Amino acid sequence: MSPIKNPPTSDAGAGRAIRPPRAGRANGQWRIDGRKPLNPNEVVKQDGDPLGAHDRILSTYAAAGFDAIPDDDLHTRFRWWGLYTQRKQGIDGGRTAQLSPAELSDRYFMQRVRMDGQSLSVKQMRVLGRASNEFARGTLDVTDRQNLQMHWIQIESVPELWRRLEEAGLITIEACGDTPRGILVSPVAGIDPDEIIDPSAAAAQIRDTFLGNPEISNLPRKFKTAFTGSPTLDILHEINDIAYVGVNHPEYGPGYDLWIAGALSTAPFLGQRLGAFVRPDQVSDVWWAAIRLFRDYGYRRLRNKARLKFLMAEWGPEKFRRVLQEEYLGYELADGPAPAPPAGEADHIGVHRQKDGHYWIGGIPPVGRLSGDTMLGLADLAETVGSDRVRTTPLQNILLLDVPAERVDEAVAGLRELGIDPDPGPFTRSLLACTGLEFCKFAIVETKSLAARVGAELDARLADLNLERRISISVNGCPNSCVRIQIADIGLKGQIITVDGQQVPGFQVHLGGGLASAGHEEAELGRTVRGLKVAATDLTDYIERVVRRYAAGRTAGE
Ligand code: SF4
Repeated sequence: MSPIKNPPTSDAGAGRAIRPPRAGRANGQWRIDGRKPLNPNEVVKQDGDPLGAHDRILSTYAAAGFDAIPDDDLHTRFRWWGLYTQRKQGIDGGRTAQLSPAELSDRYFMQRVRMDGQSLSVKQMRVLGRASNEFARGTLDVTDRQNLQMHWIQIESVPELWRRLEEAGLITIEACGDTPRGILVSPVAGIDPDEIIDPSAAAAQIRDTFLGNPEISNLPRKFKTAFTGSPTLDILHEINDIAYVGVNHPEYGPGYDLWIAGALSTAPFLGQRLGAFVRPDQVSDVWWAAIRLFRDYGYRRLRNKARLKFLMAEWGPEKFRRVLQEEYLGYELADGPAPAPPAGEADHIGVHRQKDGHYWIGGIPPVGRLSGDTMLGLADLAETVGSDRVRTTPLQNILLLDVPAERVDEAVAGLRELGIDPDPGPFTRSLLACTGLEFCKFAIVETKSLAARVGAELDARLADLNLERRISISVNGCPNSCVRIQIADIGLKGQIITVDGQQVPGFQVHLGGGLASAGHEEAELGRTVRGLKVAATDLTDYIERVVRRYAAGRTAGE
């Protein structure tokens, strides 16, 4: 495994430099500075545990209506239950920066449902599909953290929506907010014949033990967890706050290599290996230790310096491991090996044999967009071909599991009919798009339909090229990098640009990013191409030119 390249100081390539906050004043580290809240978000969180919003939604707001919700619940605490107000329709992206969150907010919500590596059963898919159609105008997106999101939810619908989800074993607790967010788990956990270790039980244990624990319901910012035991390294371990990557230890056998403090956003930072080996029976201990370390030492004065990566930038992996072991864990972890370079396709698309002899089929709903009807169709298809398990992936894809050999052709045809393509063109296959202007309050440009169109056009126009490796494209509606601008071959950051004196939607371009897990020799953040901006209307032409120039000029193996 190659070393992790992070921009050390002033040139962060695709983003700003990672600089810890200024020393010599209180930075809101609870363990050092005490608990006095130093910014408005911290005040709201200390004024009342955000988890308490649950009962007020059920007992008061759902009956009294949207106007009865006070701002601190609406814009902060609701997130602890996966609820965000969505963007008011009709406000163009050029006005995003001029308006307050309240002015940008609609009276409708996005509801996130967290997966944490769960498979969806036929029953759960039917619950989701019907809820989407009844309460969410048919919307249902797969996110790049394997979660599901609906839009257009009214506060009056929330009790019934939650009742149905909870009855089906689907949860929304801590799906957003300064919390332990949805856990990424290898989508082929437990079924991959080449798997080093199955992390399903470890992820489920964390979810079942710790979610909703008030000791960790007020973190400095979000805390993202990921697990994989697949040699494809399929959960983007370099960009999670804590990642467990399956390795074989020469003495202890299968377990995990520990990675800490990766995150993107506007100041990207790749996670650091601590060089520590985590045995399966130590997974929960280590997670509980790491999240409390973050709670206590994370910088809370400035929200844009509060992610764990800023602490790591100051401490470095050696000190982090020492404090983790001495102050929180109470014992030393063994040293362990790094993961081997990735083997195989991490997107799991197409037909693959499982370790039990059945098959999984991976397909792409373009840019992660499903619908209530598609989910209901997927439930029917799964039932017809004898499956009761569907999984989502961090690349916004869908896997249909446990298909008997004699039903594979039928399942492939059924997925295709639903628009979940098991054999997509290379550009559609490696394209991600965030929510964008349609629903997101931070957005500056539209993303989903643009990206779907551009992917289809590139597949048609560049069919003559025979590239050794697919080119990943990430379309983001603003600098927040929800679909990872800095680790795509072509990363696009939405902004308003000037073309011939006119202000139009467009993108800042970043080139050359990628993770080792995505087939790059080593993890690397993309570089901003200074001054290079492209109008949304010219995007297909621009990418075609870049790819053709690359294809003509590259050396063998490049
Ligand atoms: Fe919204 Fe920006 Fe994230 Fe896209 S990248 S979902 S526009 S915050």
